[in-house]
Amino acid sequence: MNNEPISILIVEDSPTQALRLQFILQEQGYQIAVARDGKEGLALLQKRFFPIVITDWVMPEMDGFKFCQAVRGQEFPGYVYIILLTAKDSKNDIIAGLEAGADDYLIKPVDEAELSARLNTAKRIIKLEYSLRKRNEEIARLSITDPLTKAYNRRYLNDHLPAAVKRSLRYDHPISIVICDIDHFKNVNDTHGHQAGDRVLEKFARSIRQCIRDEVDWLVRYGGEEFLIVLPETDMDGAHRAAERYRLLISRTPVPAGDESISITASFGVASVSPSEENRELTMESLIEAADECMYRAKNEGRNRTFCVLLK
Ligand code: GH3
Ligand code: MG
Ligand code: MG
Ligand code: MG
Repeated sequence: MNNEPISILIVEDSPTQALRLQFILQEQGYQIAVARDGKEGLALLQKRFFPIVITDWVMPEMDGFKFCQAVRGQEFPGYVYIILLTAKDSKNDIIAGLEAGADDYLIKPVDEAELSARLNTAKRIIKLEYSLRKRNEEIARLSITDPLTKAYNRRYLNDHLPAAVKRSLRYDHPISIVICDIDHFKNVNDTHGHQAGDRVLEKFARSIRQCIRDEVDWLVRYGGEEFLIVLPETDMDGAHRAAERYRLLISRTPVPAGDESISITASFGVASVSPSEENRELTMESLIEAADECMYRAKNEGRNRTFCVLLK
């Protein structure tokens, strides 16, 4: 978590009580917004994220009970910790509030020291949830990324390419894939060592990533020294031009290895789909197979070249 002040949303229909709370909390270094009832609170929460909400129980329009329920029924960028404000003698309200989704409660009039202690609990929970969420995001990212090249892995490809192909066919948009395999890569390992080979793979992936359309095309490490680029909304001519751009960039970008530098080339195969009645049922597998055949043709005809096929 960064060091910015924590934002707290106060949901309270009494202006004097809201003002008092606001004053105390601002003194304690929090950033405060105030809503006059649950409905307004919910609207504010949807516009901007507040990790902590302190809400009154009895309010017009939407009371604390309905507000807690509504917050728990929605998705926010992180966990919303809710503290319920309630009158002294309302045990039933406290139970109902906790059941509706509040995390804690405070009895009015709010005692400053108690408020501060309860907020410390809230901050502990928020911090815990934040680190858990970040770790889960990281695990999710790692599970779809190749660690060496930072390209997507086969799992991501298998999860996303079939849907991309289906979308293109359904909406009559073209889609292309490019498969490329580094030429004589075994020689790189044999001559310069496996570590240098790894550097070449990293650099290869970085060069291609710099060359593809941001947020549109995606690079996958398909096998050891074989990569696949998915080009949505791209017909065969466009994909052919793109593949040639990658090919020339790769052949002109030697990778430093100690005192030497390693020059490489790669062979490219492009398969494109032009939507038609006949290929409505086309699969990811047949698209990859077609691109693979083109890539092998490029290998057989001397390497460092590109062949294309259009599946009509
Ligand atoms: P071609 O032009 O026909 O593609 O020849 P090639 O030598 O590139 O192809 P081959 O399939 O014979 O060899 C691929 C080599 O890639 C063998 C394998 O050890 C190496 N390789 C695969 N993954 C990695 C890796 O992660 N790091 C390194 N350094 N080498 C790898
Ligand atoms: Mg009230
Ligand atoms: Mg190879
Ligand atoms: Mg290979």
